[in-house]
Amino acid sequence: MLRPRAAQARAEIETLEAQLAAAKAKLRAAGKGEAPAPVKAAPSTQDTARYGCPDCDKMFDSPQGRGAHRNKAHGFRRHAS
Ligand SMILES: [Zn+2]
Repeated sequence: MLRPRAAQARAEIETLEAQLAAAKAKLRAAGKGEAPAPVKAAPSTQDTARYGCPDCDKMFDSPQGRGAHRNKAHGFRRHAS
């Protein structure tokens, strides 16, 4: 059995939840409801630059990775770029 104050608080919560739901519906209607699809950061030419292996089509995030791959996969002596 709820005390009157608790019942009142619960009623307030329900009201707020209803308002929240209505607000969310409005946002959705406005096309902004759901979080926008995460925009992939445009590949900056610096740390996200891709290094492709010239001997195969593998891509690497760093020249070191590519060098290690080439060395291992193609027996390439470390002499990157
Ligand atoms: Zn390769």
